Amino acid sequence: MIKRNLVQIAEMCGGKLVHAEHAEVVAAGVITDSRKITPGCLFVPLVGEQFDGHSFAAEAIEQSAAAILWQKDHGTPPEGPVILVEDTLQALQHLSKAYLTETKARVIGITGSNGKTTTKDIVASLLATTYKVHKTNGNFNNHIGLPLTILSMPEDSEIAILEMGMSARYEIEFLSKLAEPETAMITNIGESHLLQLGSREEIARAKVEILAGMKPGGLLVYNGDEPLIPMVLQEPDTRKPDNLKLSTYGVNSTNDDYPTGMMFQSGGTVFTSYSGHSDTAYRIPLLGEHNVINALGAITVARHYGVTEANIVEGLEQLELTSMRIEMIEGVSGIAILNDAYNASPTSVKAAIGVLEKMKGYRRKVAVLGDMLELGGLEERYHEEIGQFITPDKVDLLYTYGPLGSKIAQGAASNLPDKHIHAYTDKTELIRALIQELTPKDVVLIKASRGMKLEEVAQAITIDK
Ligand code: ATP
Ligand code: MG
Repeated sequence: MIKRNLVQIAEMCGGKLVHAEHAEVVAAGVITDSRKITPGCLFVPLVGEQFDGHSFAAEAIEQSAAAILWQKDHGTPPEGPVILVEDTLQALQHLSKAYLTETKARVIGITGSNGKTTTKDIVASLLATTYKVHKTNGNFNNHIGLPLTILSMPEDSEIAILEMGMSARYEIEFLSKLAEPETAMITNIGESHLLQLGSREEIARAKVEILAGMKPGGLLVYNGDEPLIPMVLQEPDTRKPDNLKLSTYGVNSTNDDYPTGMMFQSGGTVFTSYSGHSDTAYRIPLLGEHNVINALGAITVARHYGVTEANIVEGLEQLELTSMRIEMIEGVSGIAILNDAYNASPTSVKAAIGVLEKMKGYRRKVAVLGDMLELGGLEERYHEEIGQFITPDKVDLLYTYGPLGSKIAQGAASNLPDKHIHAYTDKTELIRALIQELTPKDVVLIKASRGMKLEEVAQAITIDK
């Protein structure tokens, strides 16, 4: 983590130390959450919609924070080690940029609609075989999380792997200019944030903004199955560095890296990919074709950084994921639950159904799908399309939950027999119906947007059955 004296910190964040007698005091680490203040840290009070961190600033000093930042328009600061700044958020961002530059860590930026966190974790695991690596903790991927990620980085890190998230245009551009990646990844273009952005083309433009702050001669590794990315790369307004290098990965054999074979097992996936002169076999402790693709993108990056094939194989086997997104839970009575209730968009729901489709050795494949939120004006159509995507080879029994979920049921009506489709708007009734219906050797996929809280269904059929 950052460790600097207060004169240095004031300079790095563009502020002014109020009392010179604190000049030699050293602050280690930056905290914005007043509940997490540790002795010796720098407390940065942020101004939010509901809370203003300044009201905890005096308390921070009492709790032995090494120093606090204080925004000038907030009146008189408390007595003690205070650095005055125009704007605490901007100061935090400037501080992180200055620190990143001083550490000389090489930056890999990862964006995309789905798979950022998973891909980041895989890239980190592969590069950690060969380098001192620092990566985004969890999902700290926005204008506050990214600076905090950088500031928590050990000084001797050689590579920083930074997730960059967005919900509107020019947010990724901002993050890219802050972190100046030498390598960028775009995992895919989905439909999340369609409401704010209006079209998939705009979503693609928002992701390609990751090139705006990139170093000359940098490498963009992107999902080549998505035609919108090369389209946006060609647009005259797209900002990109000089001598940009490109590498693609994906399912299609037109990509630079693509899987030549895939086999799903209960605890993971084995896949092969062409590397140089022959096919190499890799194993990942993850399910689903989409995770094979995430791994392939990560392999491309690792090879670019000179990681050996032996280390790549080992790094994949030792993956430490932020959290298992699609998690296999053994239900009692021999039921298997694929819990993916963490979030949902049309792309990730289709990916999850693809995992269900490939599950072998089960009696029936059951999908419990809830509303996908924040999709904007076309939300009903997207739900119907998921229904149309569901065919008897993929799903035997469909349960939907929520008002939009019922559109999935409508869409599936032409593919599945009526008696195999059940639409619910009451979660307790849905759980009761599932408990009555499920029998040993059924495999059940559970997926919806976070707000639908479908993990309650997963818990219920794990415990009650
Ligand atoms: P967030 O926007 O919440 O940070 P993220 O982009 O970091 O999401 P992950 O957390 O890695 O994404 O995965 C989220 C969901 O997306 C999971 O439910 C997973 O099944 C699905 N997913 C992961 N990778 C892909 C992919 N390459 N294509 C489609 N869906 C994917
Ligand atoms: Mg994420």
